[in-house]
Amino acid sequence: MPITEKLYDDDPYLKEFKARVLRVDGNEVELDRTAFYPEGGGQAGDLGVIGGVRVVDTQKEDGAIMHILETTPVMSVGDGIDCEIDWERRHRIMRLHSAAHIMEHFLWKQLGHLERLGSYVDEKKDRADYEYEGRLPPEALKEVEEATNEFLTEGHEIRIDPDPTQPDIRIWRCAEIEMPCGGTHVRNTREIGSLRLKRKNPGRGKERVETSLVSD
Ligand SMILES: [Zn+2]
Repeated sequence: MPITEKLYDDDPYLKEFKARVLRVDGNEVELDRTAFYPEGGGQAGDLGVIGGVRVVDTQKEDGAIMHILETTPVMSVGDGIDCEIDWERRHRIMRLHSAAHIMEHFLWKQLGHLERLGSYVDEKKDRADYEYEGRLPPEALKEVEEATNEFLTEGHEIRIDPDPTQPDIRIWRCAEIEMPCGGTHVRNTREIGSLRLKRKNPGRGKERVETSLVSD
């Protein structure tokens, strides 16, 4: 089975590209190459337009990257089509995803390691759930917000390298922070601007930290 070339891995800043149709299944289309990031690793799937039809979601299905279209397209296998991702939205997601990793670093510095139970980032905010009894102290969260914002303005480079022993795993790096992540990220912390953090209680024994962008 042919595998889609993941253009977003090599260049997360790619907005427009040409591709060939590998498969059409109702309103879902598989391409030979794509810059559309499929939902996964806590990051929302991309939106945009392919072959003149709106993409309302991108999902992984049995290992294939499927572009889910607003309507059933008039496309055939082998067709060459023009594609464009909703860049404004994706860039916000990249800023927020990078920001969430940095926030977590300062959260752990402040409160010690907290087990992350889940996370989800879209263009509006990042939500990260941690194992925690009681309420996250507001003063601690304020300190985390300030430390993160100061770090962002320092202009640290962000790099992603394949894990030397497992090439499928990608390692996200920024200053002394590193973690495995397959998502899309900005190149420098300055691109993020500044953040606001908020806590929520999504259920017993959990606390959620919501990260949102202050600047557009
Ligand atoms: Zn990540």
